[in-house]
Amino acid sequence: MIAIKQDLDAKIRAQAKNRCGYCLVPQKLVFYKLEIEHLFPKAKGGATEEDNLWLACRQCNLSKGIKTNGFDALTFERVRLFNPRKQIWAEHFKFSEDKTEIIGRTNCGRATVSALQLNRDLQKTAREFWKLTGIFPPID
Ligand SMILES: [Zn+2]
Repeated sequence: MIAIKQDLDAKIRAQAKNRCGYCLVPQKLVFYKLEIEHLFPKAKGGATEEDNLWLACRQCNLSKGIKTNGFDALTFERVRLFNPRKQIWAEHFKFSEDKTEIIGRTNCGRATVSALQLNRDLQKTAREFWKLTGIFPPID
């Protein structure tokens, strides 16, 4: 967890539409506060500034750690991980028909699904229930 000023914290949460930038879980569906994460890891010199901050759930933030790139098993390329501030989620990912799995559409999307382990069994099970709420997956 990082300490940032309350107004910047609120701004990042609003920019991220109060959901994880990777798996899209909305704040309303988890019982802990989504975390402000460094897009470029602080451990590698990433600044604690608006441009380098976004919102992530605990699982995505932990899985991402200090990774900045991942491996796409389809193209055998090592590529940069998805940047939810600069890239559009729907261009790089989609949900499976039953809405429980996140599928990478691009090399970046596939590498991010793999690096962040976006389809663990517990996540897929949770999504089964989340979709019943009508607010998951988000439509915008
Ligand atoms: Zn997440």
